[in-house]
Amino acid sequence: MSTKRRSAASADTAYERQGTAVVVGASLAGLMSALALSRAGIDVTMLERVTAFPRTGASLGGVTENMLVRLTGRARTDSDATTHDDVQSWSAIYTRLRSAVEADPRIRLRHAATVQHVGQDADAAWVSTADGRTYRAGVVIGADGHRSVVRRSVAPHHPDATFAGYMIWIGLADESAIAGRHRWPRAVDILYRGDGCLIGYPMAGPTGSVAPGARQLGWAWYDAGRNDLLREKGCVSGDVVQHTLRAADVPEATLRELADEADLWPSPWRDVIRDCVDRRAIIGTPIAEYVPDRLVNGRLALVGDAAHVPTPMTASGFGMSLADADAIADAVAVGLDGQPMAQALKDYERARLDSVRASVRSGQQFSRSFAGQAA
Ligand SMILES: Cc1cc2nc3c(=O)[nH]c(=O)nc-3n(C[C@H](O)[C@H](O)[C@H](O)COP(=O)(O)OP(=O)(O)OC[C@H]3O[C@@H](n4cnc5c(N)ncnc54)[C@H](O)[C@@H]3O)c2cc1C
Repeated sequence: MSTKRRSAASADTAYERQGTAVVVGASLAGLMSALALSRAGIDVTMLERVTAFPRTGASLGGVTENMLVRLTGRARTDSDATTHDDVQSWSAIYTRLRSAVEADPRIRLRHAATVQHVGQDADAAWVSTADGRTYRAGVVIGADGHRSVVRRSVAPHHPDATFAGYMIWIGLADESAIAGRHRWPRAVDILYRGDGCLIGYPMAGPTGSVAPGARQLGWAWYDAGRNDLLREKGCVSGDVVQHTLRAADVPEATLRELADEADLWPSPWRDVIRDCVDRRAIIGTPIAEYVPDRLVNGRLALVGDAAHVPTPMTASGFGMSLADADAIADAVAVGLDGQPMAQALKDYERARLDSVRASVRSGQQFSRSFAGQAA
């Protein structure tokens, strides 16, 4: 290592000791990994580039109450916003994990910390952030999502997730805006019409109430017909997903088309979609996929969407991230207990790689047929 690099790597001396991990990204996979590492007795520094997460109405299927109790070490309380059993709101899950992290003395969480560079030598791994700090630890774990910076150092030959050829429109409406005229759905509806697919789900309201009148209906509309729009708006460049299409950037003409095309869907979904369109309360997420051939490199490792990106149709991203968190904590604990860290992380890769590749690939069958039918 050069002298210049060594002095940069020494800037944050508080974390230059054994028994520590740096986790890049403090969304769901990062929070789960930090909690698992802490349970294994490891001190964690989490670095997150944003200061607050937008409340988009995004939701996750496949997340059970048992998973959340195991992760946070406590059952749901009245103050935890809850949702329908089949689908949990992203923000309710995030809030519970974040509270557990904040209560954990082994975990230090830093916001407005954008990681730009990642490095390692025989003794340690480190990251440097946009504000000029360097954090050093026994291991650096990339939980920095589908456009991961850490992945560039783990798999430089295969750094990018690729566009799957379609997007999802996402919205959330209050029951009170549509109530009285429709049957209230009891479970997730998965509907196919023409070239489209709609997933609709009942949810508790923002205060966690499931009382009639206080609930919400969320929906995700799979759409392979707007790839030109995604490219025009810079959401997809080449075959790489760059960002979500924000509500403010959806053209008026597209909103009108969506309102018309909502006729495809039965009530209440068509009314819910039109309510969201009228309020311009929708976002469009281009779907990315990533099949990894590697999860670690030396003292660097990947978890969550940094490691693997399945289509949301599999509803498996959260469960895969949870399994990653458990496995990485086991491996790092062994690595800090005498076994060479690189060797211990290879055990993590051996434990997870085949399974995550199979999950992403199973979703690619849906993606190919869905994107293909609209082409
Ligand atoms: C539309 C959609 C619907 C989905 N539905 C489901 C579902 O129903 N069920 C399911 O199980 N999964 C679903 N998923 C997947 C699931 O959301 C993810 O797999 C899961 O939340 C784990 O995400 P993550 O924490 O790895 O990544 P992300 O949520 O992308 O978080 C990455 C974090 O890293 C931070 N970051 C990025 N770069 C840097 C940097 N350089 N420095 C510091 N911080 C950085 C980001 O700000 C962010 O906070 C869905 C995904 C999408 C897109």
